[in-house]
Amino acid sequence: MTCKILNGNWLSEQYARGVGRRVEALVKSGKRPPGLGVILVGDNPASLAYVGRKEKVAKRCGFITKEERLSGAASEDDLLAVIESYNGDPEIDGILLQLPLPGGLNADRMLDKISPSKDADGLHPLNQGLLMRGAGMLRPCTPSGLMRLIDLAYSDVRPEGDVDIEKDIPEVDLSGKSAVVVGRSILVGKAAALLLLERNATVTVAHSRTKDLAAVTSQADIVVAAVGREEFVKADAVKEGAVVIDVGINRASSGKLVGDVAFDEVQGKCSAITPVPGGVGPMTVIMLMHNTFLAYEQHLKSQHQFNKQAG
Ligand code: NDP
Repeated sequence: MTCKILNGNWLSEQYARGVGRRVEALVKSGKRPPGLGVILVGDNPASLAYVGRKEKVAKRCGFITKEERLSGAASEDDLLAVIESYNGDPEIDGILLQLPLPGGLNADRMLDKISPSKDADGLHPLNQGLLMRGAGMLRPCTPSGLMRLIDLAYSDVRPEGDVDIEKDIPEVDLSGKSAVVVGRSILVGKAAALLLLERNATVTVAHSRTKDLAAVTSQADIVVAAVGREEFVKADAVKEGAVVIDVGINRASSGKLVGDVAFDEVQGKCSAITPVPGGVGPMTVIMLMHNTFLAYEQHLKSQHQFNKQAG
């Protein structure tokens, strides 16, 4: 079976081109550019690298970025002051609070303070509640990004050259398809399950207490692995022709980054698979920009409305 490699680097670049073009046109017409406000607490090397990558992609999309770095000894009040300054900053449309936070800082309490209209990560309880309702605009980035990779899997598009994303890679209806999500975290598994349901897939959520996991996943047309265990999903746990989405990022003892799926053996069996790195990771980053752009459009609209009412 020919297996389609779902190249997230390519797909995210297609998004960046599209967003960049729209921003360029808006700025030419006299509008301000979208703004991303980044908050980094402490000096975790992985977080530093992630933030650097996100800022680079934001610039590629034509956004301005502001960055606030706090020491690892910062208090919740220090962090709150930065969040509030971004909440009130008219040049900032999306706020990125890089996780994990150093010990002593409660991530949920801090995420709750981000203005829901600037919640670029889609992790504010209001936006999560709207997601439950099948509504809302700012959805969590990793689950949204992996949905677009599933769309790529079912499209005729080969991940090469330039495409018009909306036209060439439409959102697919997954009626009649079964999907198994392995992992039930708020960040990935639960939200991915909701998005798959929204597209009419028949969804099973598996986790560490699931009995005979391979028997469950091997029935599925779509497998999403968000476990955090190196090469955990093997070929015998995957149905012939399935679409396999690997969210995991694990550092192997060799130092190499590997996913939750045993890529080499599974790719011989499935119809489409995401690589690690270069699959879900870049899509997570570009969905942050997508959300920031959506928030920006909303902010421009509200400003326009306000100006009209103010005469
Ligand atoms: P969590 O640790 O929060 O959740 C892991 C989930 O896997 C839990 O629900 C857990 O079950 C389940 N699990 C653990 N062991 C088993 C097992 N033996 N069998 C079945 N299920 C199991 O991780 P995240 O959801 O935050 O992240 C998952 C992976 O995705 C990580 O590698 C992370 O680095 C990566 N990630 C990648 C992103 C990207 O952009 N590519 C973004 C976010 C995360 P239980 O609930 O029962 O404990």
